[in-house]
Amino acid sequence: MGLNIILLGPPGAGKGTQAKLLIDRFGIPQISTGDILRAAVKDRTSSGIRAKKFMDDGALVPDDIVISIISDRLKMSDSVNGFILDGFPRTVAQADALSTMLDDSGKSIDHVISITVDYDELIKRVIGRLTCKSCGRGYHIVFDPPSVPGVCTLCSGELCQRDDDREDTMRARLLTYESQTAPLIAYYSSLGFLRPVDGLGSIQEINGALVSLLEG
Ligand code: AMP
Repeated sequence: MGLNIILLGPPGAGKGTQAKLLIDRFGIPQISTGDILRAAVKDRTSSGIRAKKFMDDGALVPDDIVISIISDRLKMSDSVNGFILDGFPRTVAQADALSTMLDDSGKSIDHVISITVDYDELIKRVIGRLTCKSCGRGYHIVFDPPSVPGVCTLCSGELCQRDDDREDTMRARLLTYESQTAPLIAYYSSLGFLRPVDGLGSIQEINGALVSLLEG
């Protein structure tokens, strides 16, 4: 039996961080539409070129682009035993499309985990976020600083801030979340899938709560 998980929550709630810990624990891949889109922008693919302006504005990339990304990704063999969707779905249309895709392949969602954090805390978290350009390790200026400022402690790569983690873009992303993604909480709640988890606390505490929920 597979373990098919959706991680829902506003930007900065810790979906990516928690997904990475669940990969090792359950041996299933993290599928992050944000990561796939950033790679497409970097590689200047046609989807990447279309997506960039929406991402820079803190808006959502059109549904047709992300739905086709997820449809291709879910066909890859590494998700036969399950997957962790991180950042998808983000609209009701995406959730409906996912449900059709899974039905067509005889799969279903097992858990929708909603990580909740208040917005002031999210802004503090996101504007201090740094990522290593070489190995992708994440840091935070205040909560998890590198040993040497601007340099990755693991591989000495250069640390950079995501373009959309600036405060003005982050505020736009929160408004987008509120209007387009938050309705998914009621959507999955009415289907009986929703499991809320408090996203305030240490990374390990939140991971513990997630694991006991998934194994419980
Ligand atoms: P993330 O890394 O998940 O915060 O995503 C970064 C940006 O990529 C978002 O602000 C959106 O512009 C875009 N994006 C990621 N996932 C989706 C999605 N499921 N639907 C639409 N846009 C997305």
